[in-house]
Amino acid sequence: MSLDQLAQQANLDIGDPQFAQWLDCHDPLSSLRDEFTIPLAGNIRGMAPPDVQVLPVPQRVPDDQPCIYLCGNSLGLQPKITRKLVSEELDTWGQRGVVGHTSHPYERPWITIDEPALDEMAKIVGARQGEVSVLNSLTVNIHFLFAAFYRPTSQRYKVLIEAKAFPSDRYALRSQIRWHGLNPDDALIELAPRAGEHCLRTEDILRVIDEQGDSIAVVFFSGIQFYTGQLFDIPSITQAGQRRGCLVGFDLAHAVGNVPLQLHDWGVDFACWCSYKYLNSGPGGIAGIYVHQRYTAMQEKQRLAGWWSNRVDTRFQMQDQLDPIPDTPGYQVSNPSVLSMVSLLGGLKVFSRTSMSALREKSLRLTGYLEYLLTHHPELAQVVTIITPTDPQARGCQLSLILPDIYFQPVFQSLKDAGVVCDEREPNCIRVAPIPLYNTFADVHRFVDILGEIVSKLDK
Ligand SMILES: *Cc1c(COP(=O)(O)O)cnc(C)c1O
Repeated sequence: MSLDQLAQQANLDIGDPQFAQWLDCHDPLSSLRDEFTIPLAGNIRGMAPPDVQVLPVPQRVPDDQPCIYLCGNSLGLQPKITRKLVSEELDTWGQRGVVGHTSHPYERPWITIDEPALDEMAKIVGARQGEVSVLNSLTVNIHFLFAAFYRPTSQRYKVLIEAKAFPSDRYALRSQIRWHGLNPDDALIELAPRAGEHCLRTEDILRVIDEQGDSIAVVFFSGIQFYTGQLFDIPSITQAGQRRGCLVGFDLAHAVGNVPLQLHDWGVDFACWCSYKYLNSGPGGIAGIYVHQRYTAMQEKQRLAGWWSNRVDTRFQMQDQLDPIPDTPGYQVSNPSVLSMVSLLGGLKVFSRTSMSALREKSLRLTGYLEYLLTHHPELAQVVTIITPTDPQARGCQLSLILPDIYFQPVFQSLKDAGVVCDEREPNCIRVAPIPLYNTFADVHRFVDILGEIVSKLDK
């Protein structure tokens, strides 16, 4: 149902704060917020630089109240169960030492500590059993996957990415290309939007693949662009690349846990993601990868190995010959951090209480509501430019707002002072991400209210 129809049903204006309350009362996922620890406003206010104007607003969140946290696209909040899971592991380590590897009071022996996470992870990305693994961190995994999949030849040696890709990805790919003795200025194609546009058009992506596909070894796009919030057409890009003989991989850092994914059915070759954004695994949490099962037979020859690539049942025979795990968990090389692993498990346990389709349904409404309020606000409509696609199917939950450069610092500092956490990107972008797991419609309404008040008070 559209916001209009809902407002009619509620007999309220869409802009009325009571409508936010009404939406929260009618939200079937509202109880999930209780699963999280929400920082108090008093703890997130920082010192603004002395030369930046901070505008106090009447809607300021009091110190002892939860802040308005719209930054789960950068670091997700802490599930309450995570503390329990981590302390269980500390207890087990304290009480059993090395014995915990095989005998564990909570049925999570450390030898197979990755396993409890795999089913839920596979469900979230739409993968089959054996296609996902949990290991390392995101940029490391880009290197691991490229070690297996990037095999440049004199004909086919290029990598296609979007311009303004997340810097770490760009650094990783340029270094991969150099490591193969090639020149990244030649071998890395960075596809930019048309002049005057912020987002890439799918037709332009497909055309470049079609025109240059012969020389492209790997197409490697993000699922959702971290800066603009654009959701790329993963199935079309995959098909187009594969039709031209390219391998197609995705960095899903901003897509996983944000939008429904069907990596297996879409035929994506490989993908990787971090878990501390939408999956709420905690800062620096352990990351995930997916490799399509069509590679199960060949990949042990190409990928890098260590003792954790060895089958569990023969791993501790310590043989000279590797006895490889044939599918994606065989990408593990080291024994993983148990504390990181159960911290991820905490985030996944919250996801297991709902589904990506239910989350997406709320997310579309929540972000649509944010967009409506921003574009109908008397002060903000003229000052704020939303660069995220207006088509809800072409974005996740994040909206990226561009402000006039001179407003940027005072607005950002004033938001923080008012008890709002969102993400700033110099020189003029604020990224706002209402998360369907824990944000409320009231959060969104109050955020727009505060932002409007700040902008109306700025020296113009
Ligand atoms: C968050 C993010 C990263 C961060 O990389 P780490 O290796 O986890 O530090 C990399 N790439 C993208 C696209 C991201 O969004």
